[in-house]
Amino acid sequence: MTGADDVTGTAADAAASAGRPVELRISRSRLAANLAAARARLVPAELMVVVKDDAYAHGVEAVTAIAVEEGVRWLGAIDPRSAGRAKAVAGDRARVFCWLTLSADETRSALAEGLELGVGDAGYLERVGAAAESPAVVHLKIDTGLHRNGVRPEDWPGFVARAAQLERQGRIRVAGIWSHIAEASDAEDDASRAVFDAAVQVARDAGLTPEVRHLAASAAGWARPEFRYDIVRLGAFSYGIRSADGPEIDGIAPVATLIARVTALGHEAVEIGIGSLDGLPSTLGGRVHVGTPAGPRRLDGVGLVTSRVETWPGAAIGDEVAVFGPGTMGEASATTLGEAIGTVGEEPVLRVSPLVPRVVTD
Ligand SMILES: *Cc1c(COP(=O)(O)O)cnc(C)c1O
Repeated sequence: MTGADDVTGTAADAAASAGRPVELRISRSRLAANLAAARARLVPAELMVVVKDDAYAHGVEAVTAIAVEEGVRWLGAIDPRSAGRAKAVAGDRARVFCWLTLSADETRSALAEGLELGVGDAGYLERVGAAAESPAVVHLKIDTGLHRNGVRPEDWPGFVARAAQLERQGRIRVAGIWSHIAEASDAEDDASRAVFDAAVQVARDAGLTPEVRHLAASAAGWARPEFRYDIVRLGAFSYGIRSADGPEIDGIAPVATLIARVTALGHEAVEIGIGSLDGLPSTLGGRVHVGTPAGPRRLDGVGLVTSRVETWPGAAIGDEVAVFGPGTMGEASATTLGEAIGTVGEEPVLRVSPLVPRVVTD
């Protein structure tokens, strides 16, 4: 066999990788099952499926179509591009929330696309108020301690007073109050929740009547009912990506399976047609098992365009190997791969090259 390590990478390899038999399979039924499990768990709070970063690299159009079909009524993304693509698919069937602070031009486009905007900055509030022809639907963000945008508690009374004024003028409609928490320790999250509750009260005292309050993402939303409020913004768990060093989640399974095929046979190892140019972290070599027709086998090394896997009886060219997925062929989850290289489960998925086709299966 041609060892993966013998291969020299060129720019042409990157182009060639588009045509190689590698794919990221997105299971419609597993996504639907995860969303059903999430809705059952979070009720009476609503589920917002987070579709930032091209739906955690699963493909925003496919994920949105499936989510809306399953009755999901809220989608959210930080980036206006993912949010706009989700809105284009969802139409009036779902509300789409976008929370990046935008320029004046971007604000006008986002409003024209029908997005609801997360506003955590006084200057941005003015831009949104000025951009709107009809009332812009906004969710005001209080900084509850993460210091990742959001209005500081000391500035909040003035901010919500100005929002109430813009609302009376018909320039905005305050649909929500929201924040984001660290989900690192219960004590910190509890302190954030107290700041959040106080901010909601201050907003109401200023005359605002938000329909929805939202604070939690996957981990706290799943584990702690008092963090759910009206909506939980669920990213990772929607896709079956459990937290690194966290437990398996009942009813939740990985939606994406990264598939490569055997391209060469050797005595001890086979070569598979996927490598670091496809986004496979080279540090995974020797640290994880992949799924094969004969069950789990060690991933021996990751090259630029091919990788080596411990062989199995009857291995043949063209056999499918699962690099990560739900475990159907003995492969590990993306989170287990992430843990093996000291990172989170989102990382191996987000690193899959955009040149790798996303294929929706049942
Ligand atoms: C990414 C993100 C989420 C979703 O987080 P998960 O842990 O993936 O569920 C929710 N809210 C905000 C503000 C985010 O940036």
